[in-house]
Amino acid sequence: MHNLSDPIISINGLGPKAQEKLNAIGVYNLEHLLFHLPHRYQDKTRITPLNQLQVGSEALVELTIDKIEELATRQRQLLCYLSDENNRNLILRFFHFNQYQKQQLVRGDIIQCFGEVKIGREALEMHHPEYRLISKGQDNLLEKTLSPIYPLTAGIHQGQMKKWINLALEALKRSDLVDNFENLAKNSMPTLKQALNTLHHPKVDDNIDQIANFKHISQQRLIIEELCAQQLSLLRLKNERKSKVSNIFTIKNQLSKQLLSSLSFKLTNAQQRSIDDINNDLASNHPMLRLLQGDVGSGKTIVAVFACLQAIENNFQAAIMAPTEILASQHLQGFSNYLKPLGIEIAFLTGSQNSSEKNEQLEKIKTGVAQVVIGTHALFQEGVVFNELSLVIIDEQHKFGVHQRLSLVQKARNTPHQLVMTATPIPRSLAMSAYADLDSSIIDELPPGRKPIKTVALGNNRKDEVVEKIKKVCNEGNQVYWVCTLIEDSESLRAESATNTHNYLQENLDGFSVVLIHGRMGKDEKSQIMHNFSNGDIDVLVATTVIEVGVNVPNASLMVIENSERLGLAQLHQLRGRVGRGSDKSICILMYQSPLSANAIQRIDILRQSNDGFVIANKDLELRGPGEILGTQQTGIADMKIANIVRDGYLLKQVIYYSEQFIKLNKSRQDALIDRWITNDKAQYANT
Ligand code: ADP
Ligand code: MG
Repeated sequence: MHNLSDPIISINGLGPKAQEKLNAIGVYNLEHLLFHLPHRYQDKTRITPLNQLQVGSEALVELTIDKIEELATRQRQLLCYLSDENNRNLILRFFHFNQYQKQQLVRGDIIQCFGEVKIGREALEMHHPEYRLISKGQDNLLEKTLSPIYPLTAGIHQGQMKKWINLALEALKRSDLVDNFENLAKNSMPTLKQALNTLHHPKVDDNIDQIANFKHISQQRLIIEELCAQQLSLLRLKNERKSKVSNIFTIKNQLSKQLLSSLSFKLTNAQQRSIDDINNDLASNHPMLRLLQGDVGSGKTIVAVFACLQAIENNFQAAIMAPTEILASQHLQGFSNYLKPLGIEIAFLTGSQNSSEKNEQLEKIKTGVAQVVIGTHALFQEGVVFNELSLVIIDEQHKFGVHQRLSLVQKARNTPHQLVMTATPIPRSLAMSAYADLDSSIIDELPPGRKPIKTVALGNNRKDEVVEKIKKVCNEGNQVYWVCTLIEDSESLRAESATNTHNYLQENLDGFSVVLIHGRMGKDEKSQIMHNFSNGDIDVLVATTVIEVGVNVPNASLMVIENSERLGLAQLHQLRGRVGRGSDKSICILMYQSPLSANAIQRIDILRQSNDGFVIANKDLELRGPGEILGTQQTGIADMKIANIVRDGYLLKQVIYYSEQFIKLNKSRQDALIDRWITNDKAQYANT
């Protein structure tokens, strides 16, 4: 007799090796086995007459053996001819068998077989079916419920898994497994016990199509519970953070007014709304953690600048961290344009500075002379000491891990306010579930006057035509990006491929200035090149994907992406966003190497059809799944037990409703829910 809390090793016949393998998939005790759900079912609940067999489907039949025949073909085969009372036939075919097995099959015996029905030359066939010799007294194959087929892990057999899970189901009958939802969803959903029993052994009248599509109420019951646990753990993180104390900002609008009046444009409503959200947060003595989302070119930078002004007016420091040197330099330039006229001092820190440059900057940061600090990963290295860091802004947050963000946060005396910005929008369902611990502002409108970028796809073999197009664009006074992609993870290989393209373009674009930029170049060289491109001294910039994010040169109106099939949707949209920033009509040419995979064709089609980052983000989620999109952000969303954000997004409303009920309950009820669904290693950063 087992209890659900018993470790799996207490199961007879389950040794240390199997224990290790099960532990690796998160199964430590019998209760965990209950949540290891079948991925499909076999129907052995009825015997199908031969005239009702369906080719390609599995069926259970009961027939009489007529004849056994061994074929002496190159590969030996055993054929067993069966018939029913109407002399209809079925042939069993075995490619592997032994003499004992052959001898057991005797003419006149009644046999039950379960397997997939195939078309043979003489009759319908089953290959290597599961079978029982009924007239020899072997157990009947007929079952009362559908038979589960479990996902396996290497070294564990289906039979073992079934046996162990059945033990857990036996223990479930006697246990009082806490049902976290009993009082919350009385009557409207099955109990946890019912749901688990149904999913392991559905009854014949349960809707298997629903189960196959994860739409059965028993699944919905578990999916909602799991998403709820996820949501709740994030909401608790949020509450915990909100209970910390940070420096209070008094909102003064002296500097903001000055900046506003110097701008050559009017803020969009969405930008103003975001600025108001941020100011509200800053005025509280609890740390802000706000996600600022907006499409490429929606103008997130200026919103960040206004946040910095609030810090400065309160004599606090603000830090802006960007994922690449090019982007950090670009921010230095952009922020300087806005802030220098207001007399604000900026420090700049990157990994490639020499020690005297670096020391000079470190000194400015430490003494507080620098009011704003801009940099790369170098910002959170040891040796960087802030005077009074109170606002941390992370640009393109998806390029950083949670830990990197937190290392910077830890440089502040009091928990700083944080603003994290995305490169492109995050799909709503993902944002609601993976970022429930963050508040969020969405810039859902582009500055007026932006012209949609026309996107075309051309085979790599049509370079000639592209070169002609480049000449035309440059002759009209506009500039061009040519992006070389290479999947290799080596920056030197990337540089080499870009060098080849650069040579080709130089040869074919006589009289134009074609310049190469790649990640292997020194930072001075890179920033000089970007500067020259910004100034219009360069016609065509040949680049690796180093220019992916943030770069802003409004006069560039043509983007060519070579081997675009190698990049994901979000990355392509992001790259394309480098053009279409000025008043000129822009074009993006996606060049590709044939043949394209179905997935690549879909990506290119989506980009041709839409310029809307919110639409593209949703498609990207469908194509790639949440794990790929969240990348370094380990949140547990990607490997849930039963829920799947993409498939189950339609349940999020209920999930949020129930989470709000749960957060009002006592802590032990909440712990019980979270413990059941979220393993400790996933929640380990909960306290940071
Ligand atoms: P992203 O959201 O991609 O980071 P940026 O902040 O780089 O976008 O802004 C893109 C461009 O739009 C910049 O040249 C910026 O000066 C300009 N811009 C920002 N806000 C507005 C606005 N309200 N009206 C017109 N142009 C704007
Ligand atoms: Mg940006």
